[in-house]
Amino acid sequence: MLRVEHLFKYYPVTAGLLKRKVADVRAVDGVSFEVGQEETFALAGESGCGKTTVVRSIARLVDPDGGQVLLKTDLLKEYHDAEGWLDLATLPARETKAVRRELQVVFQDPDSSLNPRFTIRNIVGEPLVVHRLGGRREIAERVDELLRLVGLDSSHLNRFPHELSGGQKQRVGIARALALQPKLILADEPVSALDMSIQGQILNLIEDLRDKLGLTMLFIAHDLSVLSHISERMGVMYVGNLVEVGATTALFRKPLHPYSEALLTAIPQPDPKRKVERVILEGQVPSPLNKPSGCPFHPRCPYRQQRCEAEVPELRLLGQDRLVACHFAEELDLRGSLQSDVMG
Ligand code: SF4
Repeated sequence: MLRVEHLFKYYPVTAGLLKRKVADVRAVDGVSFEVGQEETFALAGESGCGKTTVVRSIARLVDPDGGQVLLKTDLLKEYHDAEGWLDLATLPARETKAVRRELQVVFQDPDSSLNPRFTIRNIVGEPLVVHRLGGRREIAERVDELLRLVGLDSSHLNRFPHELSGGQKQRVGIARALALQPKLILADEPVSALDMSIQGQILNLIEDLRDKLGLTMLFIAHDLSVLSHISERMGVMYVGNLVEVGATTALFRKPLHPYSEALLTAIPQPDPKRKVERVILEGQVPSPLNKPSGCPFHPRCPYRQQRCEAEVPELRLLGQDRLVACHFAEELDLRGSLQSDVMG
């Protein structure tokens, strides 16, 4: 359904009165992955690793600097390539509105993504009005239906976002994203701004809707325990690059990249009697303005060797379906997370 190939997004850093470019923030630095029809693919990694820029580039909320974002769709056939893919990265800006019918974003923070001056009726109905999908009565009926779908009702219609709880606001954000009946949902940390007690409810709602509506999903989170339940496959990002991609259960059980190991062993375990020895990383995540030479993870990697400082590891296939960017992935015997036991 979605193929992202060698996606780049650099933000220029300028200086002086003439605003001369002095450097680039390499937010996304050649990222490739695929998401199958009705599959949920997750992107994990610490804040600032480029996950959100990937989402924003796919949705054309920012224009990518290079690469392809290929979508299988029946829309805009005049722009399809010979294999029937539509490249969103090079699609003229005037055509991106049409693509919103196939692809919608659920944002992290409902407080900043919902217009505070609009009632819930107007927020959920807005995409239907913009795309001229029905008259007043049809739109009112569809808004009612969408609110019921996300567990709200008509008593919320005339309220404003500030009158709702965080969880209710995120339900409104999900209802709005579903208004145009998209096939692909880009969920950008949809529960990280919510209280822990609400996160599970919203995750269950997203999972139920995905199964009921047959949605394909790209799900972003920095909390790996969230991803373990919702995604079939996942990718781990570090300063703008993917360092590992594979089936979620297999990756949790046996990571092959040292950075994945550190993230997975940091997950709190459900059974306090069973312990996983945590891998604590030295130092801070490097700035994408000044990426280390060779393997970008080498200054923090407990397994680094001389070669790592000079040579960039390619993302390469190991076994049937694991991709790993580490020179020594075959030799390392890394620890996984006990979460994989819970997942079965
Ligand atoms: Fe660590 Fe070297 Fe592998 Fe990078 S290539 S993850 S520094 S062992």
